[in-house]
Amino acid sequence: MKQFENMEVWFVTGSQHLYGDEALKVVAEDSQKIADGLSRSDRIPMRVVYKPVVTTPEAITQVCLDANSDPNCVGLIVWMHTFSPAKMWINGLKALHKPFLHLHTQFNVEIPWSDIDMDFMNLNQSAHGGREFGHIATRLRLNRKVVVGHWQDSDVQDEVAVWMRAAAGWHDSRGARIARFADNMNEVAVTDGDKVEAQIRLGYLVRNFGVGDLVAYVDQVTDAEVDRLVAEYDDRYVVAEELQEGGSKRESLRYAAKIEIGLRAFLEDGGYKAFTTNFETLHGLKQLPGIAVQRLMADGYGFAAEGDWKTAALVRAMKVMAKGLKGGTSFMEDYTYHLKPGDMKVLGAHMLEVCESIADKKPSLEIHPLSIGGKADPVRSVFTAPSGPGVVASIVDLGNRFRMVVNEIQVVPPDEPLKKLPVARAVWVPKPNLKVAAAAWILAGGAHHSGFSQAINAQVLQDYADMADIEFVLIGSSTNLSEFKKELRWNQVYYHLSKGL
Ligand code: MN
Repeated sequence: MKQFENMEVWFVTGSQHLYGDEALKVVAEDSQKIADGLSRSDRIPMRVVYKPVVTTPEAITQVCLDANSDPNCVGLIVWMHTFSPAKMWINGLKALHKPFLHLHTQFNVEIPWSDIDMDFMNLNQSAHGGREFGHIATRLRLNRKVVVGHWQDSDVQDEVAVWMRAAAGWHDSRGARIARFADNMNEVAVTDGDKVEAQIRLGYLVRNFGVGDLVAYVDQVTDAEVDRLVAEYDDRYVVAEELQEGGSKRESLRYAAKIEIGLRAFLEDGGYKAFTTNFETLHGLKQLPGIAVQRLMADGYGFAAEGDWKTAALVRAMKVMAKGLKGGTSFMEDYTYHLKPGDMKVLGAHMLEVCESIADKKPSLEIHPLSIGGKADPVRSVFTAPSGPGVVASIVDLGNRFRMVVNEIQVVPPDEPLKKLPVARAVWVPKPNLKVAAAAWILAGGAHHSGFSQAINAQVLQDYADMADIEFVLIGSSTNLSEFKKELRWNQVYYHLSKGL
């Protein structure tokens, strides 16, 4: 069973008629074997569909147009078994609106040193056929991924799989609907931005609602529905005594369940894939949604707080890209630091809304005052993220473009149990270290909100940024601040010029 059941990539092999029908028959057979081999591999998360070998400009254009209009096709893997003169590809590649990966591989692993003859040479030409194809893709200024190596190698298949995950996220983003309850938090800069440009570049649509639209759904929830969900809470969490049946705050738990049911129905009815809330604007809701948001995120919805629609959409895309992988993905915020020299780290959390997919064990369900927002105490689940590698990512609007900033991190255990901290959290050491990483993040204009994942790596996000054609900067183990500052300056010039008028 593939992780992306309703998605597929097409395997397209380029050739020409110069070699004769016999050679083309072998090309087709080999291509089919590669497509099937990839498709059957456990490392590959979606179907790879073989397409007949293309040998003319018309056939190339047609397969690109077919890919554009096929709702399940998320991209093409393109391979040159032989030499396919690349002028034939110009019209097709110009028309193609789906991502493509250039697989620079060969059917055979080894050169048959003692038997090799000119027939073999004529049939196995990807070493130069791939370069001819690559030239025209570069000449056309097309973003794509190039993967080099034998198609059966695990590292090659893993690179293909990473690209497929990015393509799945990109496919999901285009046309996605994001629901925003109320506006951006007043006076906050980074959470706002150009929604028209976001739709042009990133493909999703942000629709705004008054909180009253949500309240209308919450008010319709019946007692029987609340009974059912509260029973699930009782079963699934370590429930604080005051929230248990007969406890002094049981009604608060029931109200939290009511928010979850109403919010879920609202999102389902409108076909929304992500949403934002704003604690400043909760008119008609008694609590800020906490447990509701945490559970909806765990079910695959993107989310960010304070009207941050860009991070909500990014968290959704990251969740799609992470599908079926070990480790969770959540909305996150760099909250406070441990600045002990030689042992600096970040405590990440939010007021409430951290996704349960990153919980290390059964979360506890608790109620505590919020201290801000002036509403009733909200119910939230509390847990800590497990140790291991991860990433935090942010997309910001720089006025003339979007920039994705990604930091590779190592999640670590808290130094001591966080007995009094009433929110879910993750503790991490950013790469290369907090001092360099935080300076680089700040110089890049990265947000205080991020998408946090222990499932996907920076490469998936870079492939996604390439598909969206937005700027990507990585802060990782080899980041050097002086070089990083230069990269930002060079990018300023590149994106100024490349945008044109
Ligand atoms: Mn926040």
